Amino acid sequence: MLETGFKLLSSSNLPTLASQSSRITEFTMASRNTVLMRLVASAYSVAQKAGMIVRRVIAEGDLGIVEKTCATDLQTKADRLVQMSICSSLARKFPKLTIIGEEDLPSEEVDQELIEDGQWEEILKQPCPSQYSAIKEEDLVVWVDPLDGTKEYTEGLLDNVTVLIGIAYEGKAIAGIINQPYYNYENNEKQQLREHRNEAKAGPDAVLGRTIWGVLGLGAFGFQLKEVPAGKHIITTTRSHSNKLVTDCVTAMNPDVVLRVGGAGNKIIQLIEGKASAYVFASPGCKKWDTCAPEVILHAVGGKLTDIHGNVLQYHKDVKHLNSAGVLATLRNYDYYASRVPESVKNALVP
Ligand code: AMP
Ligand code: MG
Ligand code: MG
Repeated sequence: MLETGFKLLSSSNLPTLASQSSRITEFTMASRNTVLMRLVASAYSVAQKAGMIVRRVIAEGDLGIVEKTCATDLQTKADRLVQMSICSSLARKFPKLTIIGEEDLPSEEVDQELIEDGQWEEILKQPCPSQYSAIKEEDLVVWVDPLDGTKEYTEGLLDNVTVLIGIAYEGKAIAGIINQPYYNYENNEKQQLREHRNEAKAGPDAVLGRTIWGVLGLGAFGFQLKEVPAGKHIITTTRSHSNKLVTDCVTAMNPDVVLRVGGAGNKIIQLIEGKASAYVFASPGCKKWDTCAPEVILHAVGGKLTDIHGNVLQYHKDVKHLNSAGVLATLRNYDYYASRVPESVKNALVP
C-alpha cells in the first residue's frame, strides 16, 4: 500500500450543470478558491493521463503481469505506472493530502513524464457545495485504484477497465472521478485485441475513453443517466472472483438476467447507464479504493451503495481496506434487493 503525505481529450466530456444533479444546491464560494474543487479538477486531468497510460501499455505489448495473492489477484505494468502517476501528481500539488493507493510499490523517484500538472477548467467553473467550501487539504483522504478490473485487462476485456480516484472527508465519500480508457471501442475489435493486443481504436466519429466525475450536492457528469425498464431485475456481479456465497445471493434476487463482468467501477457504470439494476457481491475481496469513487457517482444521482447488511461504508484514512461484508448497490429500488439477501449470506459476512 502506498501512502504519501494533460491533456484535454474531447469536448464531449464537458460537464454541464443541467445534467444529473440530484440534491441540495446551496453554493457559496467560487470553485477556483476551494481545495475540494481544485482537487477534483486536478484529479480529472490526472485520470485522463492515467487512461492514456493504460492504453499505451497495451499498445506496447508487454503487460508485465505479477501475481499478488493468487492467480486472480494480478498487477500489471499499467497498475504500477498509473499509481505512480496519480499519487505523485496529486501529492506534488496537494502535499498535505492523505493518498492511499492499491499497489504496494517501492518508493522511488517518479519519471517526470508520468507527472500531470493540468486541471480541468470546466470543473473550476462549477460552484462548490457550501458544506465543502471550507475543507482543508489535510482533511481529505484520496483512495486510488490505478486500474480496476486488472484480471479482465490481461484477458483483453478492455471495456471492463476503469481508473478510480475517490475523495473522502470525515469518513464519507464525497467526490469521485472514473476514467474508462476503452469506452467507445468497437465490439468487433475485441477479438482482434485479444489476439494481437493492438492499440484499440474508437468507432467512426467516436473518441476513445471518457471521464465521469461527481461531487455530492453538485451532481455527476460525463454520462447520460438511464434506468433499467421498471420491474426488470438485472443483476451484475463478479466474473473472476465468484464463489458459493456470491451465487447464492445473486440467485436470491430472483434475477431476470445475470451479468458477470469485471471491475467495481464498470459495474457502477452499468447501474447509472441502465444496463443493470443491482450490483451484488456477497464476498470479501473488494476494497475501499474499489468503492470510493463509484459510490460517489452513484450517490450523486440518487442511488445507494452499502455492504451486504446495509451498512454505509467508511473511508477514514485508518479504516480497514477490505470491504469484508461485500457490496450491494442500486440506482433505484435498493430496499427490494436488500430485503432478499439471505440470512445465511449475512451470517457468513462479518462487517
Ligand atoms: P470483480 O467484480 O471481481 O471485478 O471485483 C471488483 C474489485 O474487487 C476488483 O478490483 C477486484 O480485484 C477486487 N476483488 C474482488 N474479489 C477479490 C478477491 N477475492 N481477491 C482480490 N481482489 C478481489
Ligand atoms: Mg479494483
Ligand atoms: Mg486495481
